Amino acid sequence: MIFDGLSNKLQDTFKKLKGKGKLSEKDIKEATREIKIALLEADVNFKVVKDFVKKINERSIGSEVLQSLTPGQQVIKIVNDELTNLMGSANSQLSFNSKGITSIMLVGLQGAGKTTTAGKLANLIKSQGKKVLLVACDIYRPAAIKQLQVLGEQIDVSVFSLGNSTSPVSIVKSAMKHAKENYFDIVIVDTAGRLHIDEELMNELKYIKDEISPTEILLNVDAMTGQDAVTVAESFDEKLDITGIILTKLDGDTRGGAALSITSVTGKHIKFVGVGEKITDLESFHPDRMASRILGMGDVLSLIEKAQSNFDEDKAMELQEKFRKQQFTLEDFKEQMQQMKSMGSFSDILEMIPGANKKALQGVDVSDKELGKSEAIINSMTKKERQNPEIINASRRKRIAAGSGTRVQDVNKLLKGFEQSKKMMKQFSGMSNKKLGKMKFP
Ligand code: GDP
Repeated sequence: MIFDGLSNKLQDTFKKLKGKGKLSEKDIKEATREIKIALLEADVNFKVVKDFVKKINERSIGSEVLQSLTPGQQVIKIVNDELTNLMGSANSQLSFNSKGITSIMLVGLQGAGKTTTAGKLANLIKSQGKKVLLVACDIYRPAAIKQLQVLGEQIDVSVFSLGNSTSPVSIVKSAMKHAKENYFDIVIVDTAGRLHIDEELMNELKYIKDEISPTEILLNVDAMTGQDAVTVAESFDEKLDITGIILTKLDGDTRGGAALSITSVTGKHIKFVGVGEKITDLESFHPDRMASRILGMGDVLSLIEKAQSNFDEDKAMELQEKFRKQQFTLEDFKEQMQQMKSMGSFSDILEMIPGANKKALQGVDVSDKELGKSEAIINSMTKKERQNPEIINASRRKRIAAGSGTRVQDVNKLLKGFEQSKKMMKQFSGMSNKKLGKMKFP
């Protein structure tokens, strides 16, 4: 889960504060000391931590907190506000060129995720109804061009390439001409990276920048590299004056240092975060929502957006219709599970739900495995069985279990689950929206 260590430590500190009726100055000093250690352990920049703790102290020791009836809550609110400020306070959107083609240049070290992000970003912008062109300018890394072409094909976006023996500046020049002639709205340029910052690379990027005057220069940094990411950002910014940051691999085992320091240090905002290797694993970055997630207060808005972008509305309507007509089959049940799966791992989803106790839910990860098992079971059924589950007798159950590498109990469990959801949906579909609104969900 995102920033697990930091999140757990801050929540432990808050628990202590909330347990006390009144807070003394000493209590607050002790809490801010714990917050300081938690941030340093999360690899947050030392100077950033110092300023942060100073602000928390100043605001918390003010009389409004100490005399309030819920001082613990007040301190949590202050930490939440300041964490949000640290990450840039407001959501930073992509800029678009209202007069012509919007060009976005992706830069960063090798392995930071530029090529993957180029595909993700193209996919996201395309879904907003824009015509996108991907441009392959990483002519040094073997397979980078091919990687971009495969991504382009997957999302049905054109990829402009002149192979690897033309200079990147000539490639972008031709690409912009091609984009203009073919009415593209957005051009996304995937550039080369190196293992370390080097002068030659920086000059090449500078030439590309001078050639196309990009609307956005987005620096990709690997969140797992912590403080190093911040140093890299400073160097790129100095040379190229970047317009924003994309923090990749936030799904990995990252302690939080990069996300919490990079904006304070560079003054540039994080615009997107990469949260996985799939093409849909790119999210807009919202400092306030991230702060809530770190403090274990959930992030319902991101959850809703995730559901909206991953759920196919037509399919949802189709399913609803099937429920209404009572034609819901195991095929549909499987499809529903696949849609759930496309939202990411179950534990990631839980993390966004306010009040979900992370510690208590640590064993829940198996649900991803359970979903896979259920799919395997349905795959082992014949078409007839999927459409008429009532014909699945004992000997069929045995065959299905053997075919899917599961036990008969698992098959029974799945069939029971299917029947239950069918029953539940039948009740819902018979209800008016008004009635549904009045229902209390646990
Ligand atoms: P480039 O050298 O900067 O173009 O980097 P790539 O796009 O080739 O990415 C390097 C590796 O990081 C690939 O294996 C990607 O699948 C992986 N990657 C990129 N973004 C993410 C992310 O947000 N999460 C995870 N888990 N992996 C990512």
